[in-house]
Amino acid sequence: SPGSDKENFILSVDVGTTSIRCHVYDKEAKIQGACTTKVVPLYPEVGYVEMDPDAIWKGFVTVVKGAVQDAGVQMRQIDALGISTQRGTFTTWDRRTGVPFHNFISWQDRRAANLVKSWNSSCTMKAIKGVMKMLYCVTRQKRMLAASLITFSTQHVTFRLVWALTNYKQVRQAVAEGNCCFGTIDTWLLFKLTKGEVHATDYSNASSTGIFDSYQVWCKCIDIFSKFWCEFFFVISVLCDFFTDVLEWMADQQAAVFGECCFDVGDVKITMGTGTFMDINTGSKPHTSAAGLYPLVGWKIGSEVVYLAEGNSADTGTAIKWAQELELFSDVRDTSSMACSVSDSDGVCFVPSFSGLQVPLNDPKACASLMGLKPSTTKSHLVRAILESVAFRNKQLYETMLRETNIPITKIRMDGGVSSNDFVMQLTADLLGRKVARPQNCEMSCLGAAFIAGLGVGFWKTKEELKKLQSTDEAFLPKGTSKSGAHSPSQEYIPVLQSWERAIQRSMNWYKP
Ligand code: ADP
Repeated sequence: SPGSDKENFILSVDVGTTSIRCHVYDKEAKIQGACTTKVVPLYPEVGYVEMDPDAIWKGFVTVVKGAVQDAGVQMRQIDALGISTQRGTFTTWDRRTGVPFHNFISWQDRRAANLVKSWNSSCTMKAIKGVMKMLYCVTRQKRMLAASLITFSTQHVTFRLVWALTNYKQVRQAVAEGNCCFGTIDTWLLFKLTKGEVHATDYSNASSTGIFDSYQVWCKCIDIFSKFWCEFFFVISVLCDFFTDVLEWMADQQAAVFGECCFDVGDVKITMGTGTFMDINTGSKPHTSAAGLYPLVGWKIGSEVVYLAEGNSADTGTAIKWAQELELFSDVRDTSSMACSVSDSDGVCFVPSFSGLQVPLNDPKACASLMGLKPSTTKSHLVRAILESVAFRNKQLYETMLRETNIPITKIRMDGGVSSNDFVMQLTADLLGRKVARPQNCEMSCLGAAFIAGLGVGFWKTKEELKKLQSTDEAFLPKGTSKSGAHSPSQEYIPVLQSWERAIQRSMNWYKP
């Protein structure tokens, strides 16, 4: 029984955008205890999204205690703690007192959108890219090619950190005095857990900030590129003593890839939570992309480093939550049947862009929109249009991935809260023309962090052992063309997709500086 003193467990916490959850896993990776608390986002101004660092810490402690209690186990039976965290959300604090200078600035925050847009189109940026391209031609070093293709986004820490350094005087002062700690959520939790002893992050979180050069791990040589950017942003002093080689915590998307056991080159996972994140395992080399797929360190176990290329869409769950607040439905579980109750969206198109449009459009100034509304439009049509947009963005991301990586995709696994939606799952399978699989337990980040922590302490021995622990999948197969020659659903969808793409074009570059 779980309460038996003989049995040991792995504890795992996932700090997401909407909630913090903790699970207690046994040897079979079955959940023996769980506890969840809500994350309260703060919106101090239009486009600003923040979180209270103390509330995150308190929430973390609450769920750990709650899950252990729920499992009826003793703390001494816990062999390891895995932590997975949302990425790109950061704060800064006083090294001596541990008191934050400001709230966490969320990955969804758009206060730096103008800065990002003007930098991406600036002459300086074009000149830097040109030089990097020339260096690539001379050296054939892929990192130079990566540098020549780089496009900044508001989701990376970079320009939001520049914003904080420019606008918070006390942060600038603390940097000058050498007393400023910068950190993403993992770093903050570790600092709190060790009572200020440890200021560190791991490769997966670092590579998601936009500051750290993923190629550094690969090349194992002096990191000119990262150093250049760090000096450029005047934050080198904040980042010293920063990168350590610890395995027990991971960034959420990388953790989800690990939890899905996407260990082989070409394995893809699509997480649909607050946002959608599509990741492909690119093996032992980082991948460089022109359309904005981002090279990430997936994980580093001993000397083995696995890389991912990632594309995302920021507004998936946010769009569904918004629709719920408008009372288009009361229970989110009804949305799939609502969408299926109508044969189409009645020509309504939804552009999921509360936080701009990401890969492959890369426009932080795009607006969210509903187009093609008619007097005949019902709530079901609107719900269908919103869910269709989730699958349409999946198709865009998938096609970009196929085109840009040239890696044959071996399997596609989908998770996250929105993957509970059968309509979105089936439409994604139809539009991709591929089987997609959904695990019974959709909380992959938590499982992945548990797996990596368990491997670290020998609770589980090998990745092969982890694969055997995977729960049974539910598979969604693409509907094919019938014998009578009827169009396949993806063909039926061509005009709908074309309208939606027009709606996208009209929503782009909407917000003016
Ligand atoms: P995160 O990890 O980013 O906090 P989750 O993976 O927990 O997010 O997903 C939460 C989102 O999933 C919420 O926005 C919720 O509305 C959405 N969701 C949950 N169940 C369904 C469903 N059956 N259909 C559509 N959306 C759903």
